[in-house]
Amino acid sequence: MCVDHSHHDDERPALSRRHVFGAGLGVASAAFLGGFALPASADTATTTTAPNAISPDEALKRLMEGNARYAGGTPNCTDFSASRAARALSQHPFAGLVSCADSRVAPELAFDQGPGELFVVRVAGNFVNDDGLASLEYGVKFLGMPLIMVLGHTNCGAVDATIKVVKDNISLPGHLGELVSNIKPAVEIALKAKPEDQLNAAIVENVRYNVRELETSTPIIAEFIRDGKLKVVGGVYDLATGKVTVI
Ligand SMILES: [Zn+2]
Repeated sequence: MCVDHSHHDDERPALSRRHVFGAGLGVASAAFLGGFALPASADTATTTTAPNAISPDEALKRLMEGNARYAGGTPNCTDFSASRAARALSQHPFAGLVSCADSRVAPELAFDQGPGELFVVRVAGNFVNDDGLASLEYGVKFLGMPLIMVLGHTNCGAVDATIKVVKDNISLPGHLGELVSNIKPAVEIALKAKPEDQLNAAIVENVRYNVRELETSTPIIAEFIRDGKLKVVGGVYDLATGKVTVI
């Protein structure tokens, strides 16, 4: 954990208390002092609140504040050894990400988050297939994530290739054709509107399309959204500035 969120959560004493344990200090120091550590579930799980037990809006704020630090060149996350002992026991990611495989878009860096904070599904073209959906369902139902962001990015090669397939009917080698078929529905919607900037329009529509897919995904995701425990949002990462715009 690179940021001590307890300072932002003074009005939530349960959360602040949890951070003492969540950061591993309780467990680690007990082990250090006594040479004997209780299993994490024995004392902490029943008496404390998970560190990711925050509202969807709070989670989004935390993401965007991290992106502002990253884009501004003032990241906090440089010491990844902190809290390693606690992370070995459990994980409490506060956001799930559906991100492109593009090497220039690294969610943990872009949102200035340490290990254990983000639950990331990455595939070229940042779409949700059944395996990605199952991964996110696990994160929501079993890890308690309050937020999912579908993150597209400017100049996406996968979306660009899909436009060429749709417009020029080109065929792609290997398994690329299958990949592109997942991006096609969104690109077709975008091109119907005859946008001036086809690539950017398709990138945005691909994000929105996959947000809708997730929001209506039953049984798990749609249920958690209905109960107010989860939000799904879209964002576009600008390669040139490092800034994420929520769309
Ligand atoms: Zn991409």
